[in-house]
Amino acid sequence: MIKRVLFFFIILSVGILLFGYNQSTNFKNQGDLLVKQGRVGEAIILYNKARSIFPLRSDVTDNLEAANLILQSDLTYETISDLDFAEVQIAPDLPAIGALQPNEVFVPILMYHHIDVNPKPEDPVWASLFVTSDQLNSQLEYLTAHGYTSITLDELYAALNNKATLPKQPIVLTFDDGYRTFYTNAYPLLKKYNVKATEFVITQVEGAPAYLTWDQILEMDKSGLVRFGAHTRHHPNLPDLSQTSIINEVQGSKSDLEDHLKKEITWFAYPYGGYTNSVVEVVRNAGFKGAVSTIYGAGQSSSKLYIEPRIMVDGRYSLANFIARIQK
Ligand SMILES: [Zn+2]
Repeated sequence: MIKRVLFFFIILSVGILLFGYNQSTNFKNQGDLLVKQGRVGEAIILYNKARSIFPLRSDVTDNLEAANLILQSDLTYETISDLDFAEVQIAPDLPAIGALQPNEVFVPILMYHHIDVNPKPEDPVWASLFVTSDQLNSQLEYLTAHGYTSITLDELYAALNNKATLPKQPIVLTFDDGYRTFYTNAYPLLKKYNVKATEFVITQVEGAPAYLTWDQILEMDKSGLVRFGAHTRHHPNLPDLSQTSIINEVQGSKSDLEDHLKKEITWFAYPYGGYTNSVVEVVRNAGFKGAVSTIYGAGQSSSKLYIEPRIMVDGRYSLANFIARIQK
């Protein structure tokens, strides 16, 4: 009799355990699906349910930890892609580019940041930094249809040093910060119109959700359409740093890129457009051919190779305004 009760009890326990394990697995599987859909917060709730039903599962605990990490890196992304981390150019509504100096050539170097729909349309700074895919498409369509030829910064360098001639209507496209939207939204359009561009990447954030991965960088580098430039390791305002830290940020970002791409990196962009004479000296000594600033203008010359001006493309401007900005 006692044996029978014990047997029944064991069967019941195993049944309850199996039922619990299955329930727990259901919650875990739903959680995995939500992670794939990017709904990490909801996934964590389900993982916790799975664990409360069946506490001793290392697979659930592992997934829970991974989901928490993703969530944290998303938070980092929010902080890191905040407006403090991008260059904003204070430009009047439609300023004149101004007359060229005798040694200057007219080459607009466009400066873009995010290619995406602005998630904070009410914020004017965010509105300026986001150019949508549709806007970029119209701009590239215009450039292609009106005889512009995209050139690289190295080609500009050669022309400024009288080692090459420029095409009739040269234009340079630059993108700052290495956001992932460059790969997902801009790169397909560059291929569509066969337009060259330079992306300035921050070399110690690759893989964080907002930023390009090294695989994406390598793929675009191989395409021949995209050149990569250095934009420091962590995007600090360089004039605020000690000399040692400036050297680490500038030289370090060059060597990080060169280690991955196995080629010389020749151009640099100052985070926030911030530079001093000693910062420029570090950039020159690191072996860069030149650097772009956030000074507004399109007159390029060999006498300002380390502070070539750019024209920021502002997401709030119409196509007509874009066109007006790239006229001589
Ligand atoms: Zn930047």
